[in-house]
This record gives sequence, C-alpha cells and structure tokens, in this order.
Amino acid sequence: TQKILIIGGVGGGATVAAQIRRDNQDAEIIIFEKGEYISFSNCGMPYYIGNKIPNREDILYATGDFQAKYQVDVRVHAEVTAIQRTTKEIEYRQDSQIHTESYDTLILSPGASAVAPSFNGMDMKRTFCLHSIPDMDAIHSFIEQEKPTSAAIIGAGFIGLEMVENLYSKGIDCTLIDQSSQVMNIVDSDMAQMIEDHLKKNNVTVVLNDALYYFSNQGQTLHLNGGTSIQADMTILAIGVKPNTKLAEDASLAIGDTGAIKVNAFMQTNDPNIYALGDVVETKDAITDIPRNIALAGPAHRQAFIIASHIKGQQIPYKGTLGSNILKLFDLTIGSTGLNTDRLKSLNRDYETATLKTMSNASYYPGSGEIWLKVLFSKQDGKIYGAQVVGFAGVDKRLAVLATAIKGNLTVTDLPELELAYAPPYSSPKDPINVLGYKASSKLEEK
Ligand code: FAD
Repeated sequence: TQKILIIGGVGGGATVAAQIRRDNQDAEIIIFEKGEYISFSNCGMPYYIGNKIPNREDILYATGDFQAKYQVDVRVHAEVTAIQRTTKEIEYRQDSQIHTESYDTLILSPGASAVAPSFNGMDMKRTFCLHSIPDMDAIHSFIEQEKPTSAAIIGAGFIGLEMVENLYSKGIDCTLIDQSSQVMNIVDSDMAQMIEDHLKKNNVTVVLNDALYYFSNQGQTLHLNGGTSIQADMTILAIGVKPNTKLAEDASLAIGDTGAIKVNAFMQTNDPNIYALGDVVETKDAITDIPRNIALAGPAHRQAFIIASHIKGQQIPYKGTLGSNILKLFDLTIGSTGLNTDRLKSLNRDYETATLKTMSNASYYPGSGEIWLKVLFSKQDGKIYGAQVVGFAGVDKRLAVLATAIKGNLTVTDLPELELAYAPPYSSPKDPINVLGYKASSKLEEK
C-alpha cells in the first residue's frame, strides 16, 4: 500500500486527504497538524467573534469524526520539523518528543501565517491577529471579559473589513487604519471609494495614508506615522499573510519569485514525490500565466482534487487562479475577479473599462438594491481581463457570471447575449450584465 503523509490539516490538507480516500480505499494516509484542530473553517472565524455564528463547534470538525469518516490517521499537536528527501522521511514533534515517519508521497499544505511585526509598547493581551482557532478564542474571550468599547483595526483588506463588521456588531467602535490611499487594494479606487463611504455611513472612522508607528499607555494609545494618536481598548493587526515555506526551504525545494513554493501543473514541487497546495504555493495567473501566491479557499480545494487525481494516475493540469473573491460589509457586498487597473498598468496592457450603476432587479420589487459593476477588457478584441461588483443585492450572481465569462473566454460582446433569466425578484429583462456588455461593446466599436 502507498503511504501518503500530509503536513497541515485544514483548508488544503484535510481536503486532499478526503479526496485521496474517495479515490483509493487502500492508501495509508496520515495528517500532521501542529494545532489542536483539523478541518476547521478559517473563513467562519470572524462571524463567531461577531456572534453571527453563536456555536463555536459549528466551525470545527471533530477530529474523531474525520478519522472515522475518511479512515485517516490524524495526529494533532504534531509539528513537522524536517523533511529528509533522500531517505523519504519526515521528523515531527509531538508530546515534546521527536518522531520520524517514512513516506512514499508527501503533501505540503502548511498554509500561511499572519504578518505580525512587533511594535514598541505593544501589549500582547490587547493586540491580536486572526489566523487560527487560538487567535479567535483569544479575541472572543477578551471581548467577553474586558468588554472593550473601542478597537483599532490595522489593514483594510478582507480580514480587517470582516473584523470591522463583526466588532461593530458587538457594540465596539472601530477605527480602520491603512497606509495606502484606499481601502481594499484589490479593487480599483473608484470602487473602493464606495466601500469607504459605506464604512463612514456606518460610523467607522477611516484613516488612510497613515500607519501604526508605536503604542503607549499599556497598548491603548496608538501613535501613527503622521503624528496623530488614537485610543483603542483592543487592536487587530490584519496587514497580510506570508506563506509558511521554511520546511520546504530547509529541504531545498524550489521557491519562486513570489516567495511561495514552486509547483508544476500537477502541483508537484521540484521533487516529484512531494506535492504542495494552498496558501503556501505560487500558481500561474489564469489570465497572464505569471506566478502569483493567492490565499483563497476555492483554489486550495481545486488543487486538492488535482493532486488526488495525479496520485491515482490521472494527468489533470491545474489551469491557474483568477483570484475571484467576495466580502460582506454590513449590508454591502464587494466582489472582484481577475486583473484590476493597477495590475493591468504594471503589465503595460492596453485596456478599456466600462462601468454601470443600476438596480439589482426590478426597482418596484421589494429588496432590490443599487449595484455598481465594472469590467476591464482589451480594447482590441474585447477579451475580459477582470471585473468588480459592489452593491446591496445580487452582487454574488453578477460576479459569478463575469468570472465564468473570463474562464469561458467570452468577450464583452458576448455579455449582451447572455440569457440570465428574468422575473422581478431577481433581475430586469435586460440584466445588469447585459447592459454592462452593451456599454463595453460600444467602446470597442468606437476604436
Ligand atoms: P490553512 O487552512 O491555514 O492550513 C494550514 C495548517 O497547517 C494550519 O492549521 C497550520 O497549523 C498547519 N501547519 C503549518 N505548519 C505545520 C507544520 N510544520 N506541521 C504541522 N502542521 C503545520 N478564503 C476564502 O476563499 N474566502 C474567505 O471568506 C476566507 N476567509 C478567511 C478568513 C480568515 C480569518 C482567514 C485566516 C482565512 C480566510 N480565507 C478565506 C483563506 C483560506 O482560509 C485559506 O486560503 C485556506 O485555508 C488555505 O488552506 P491551506 O491548507 O493552505 O492553509
């Protein structure tokens, strides 16, 4: 029987284990997870803090259940400390002892870690990152015990914005600080402005073009580079993640320019017996083929399927990552896919944009809401490079259609032809996607 070891037991690791077991009843599969839990939902953590998900167990998967369902040997509190490629063994630490285990195939899914620099005067009791269940528990119990009334959130990306919403729902006043000139760098500045306006409408203080310099007053006063200071009972650092590549580097596995592990189309590292997936790898961009390191759950799940297929002898290549993403911010939804303006400019691509501000569905029908759509495309042939959607209803559907259009190599001239189904609760006879397509196509014809 084949012996397969998996390092990391959450997004990519648990998924690849389950997928391999579906295909292969005989393989011996062992997961090593340095934390206490496997297969938990990272993505649900902000909502447990905000009490939207009141039961902690709902985002955890009982290790025993996973073991029983998939017949996988799960070792928790087991940190892999070294990979010996020549002898095909790993070393891991469990119960303060070093053990070894041999493998035929090794799969790396150790994820990423929150970037958490140490600032002068920082008080660890009231300064948090959110990347693991212990991080989540620490924030949750601080809120229960200390009853903070104010929070500073450093970093206006996904996790920062999700934390703003969830802390706000606990009655905590939020100040959001980001060093760049806009919130959510993944979208263009015109779309980001709507997000910023919405934050302010919800009484969130937004500080842009400024960064945390140091703390004083037991970590409750934050001094910014610009000279101003902010009082906050607690601080969330949400300034990004970096891939956990140390094990791979120590084992001389190739690391790419993005700082993540290089893999081929079948998710193999430069050692064919070692695969890697998830936040720790770089994969080609679905549009440009340029390697990118993207920390999203959807690509990790697809990569798990690619690896499991390859192990059973099927050569299904991973075709690249678009980076489609979506976020809820109070009653606003923000989604984007593909390349944004900054990226297109840095690639020196000749591109055009079309924007549309409209209603999600028939405006007389209750629950309809404003929606703004933006598509970025090639002036020459209408190829769609990227899309961004912000609004109060129907955002996820429009984003999904645009992401599918990119994947299916549709051009902006195809968008008016899409039949997306109409009844007043859902759309208009001309769906916003159709109208966006007409607008974009007219810009092509002008050329
Ligand atoms: P992880 O799921 O992070 O798993 C890595 C595991 O490896 C960790 O449990 C770690 O303890 C373990 N590990 C590391 N090193 C070792 C070692 N040496 N030995 C043993 N174990 C080790 N993505 C989305 O698409 N949508 C979302 O809404 C979304 N929300 C998120 C919200 C939060 C708060 C966070 C933190 C992430 C969110 N993500 C979201 C990202 C998504 O969770 C990740 O992209 C996904 O989990 C990646 O899977 P992974 O296996 O690469 O890493």
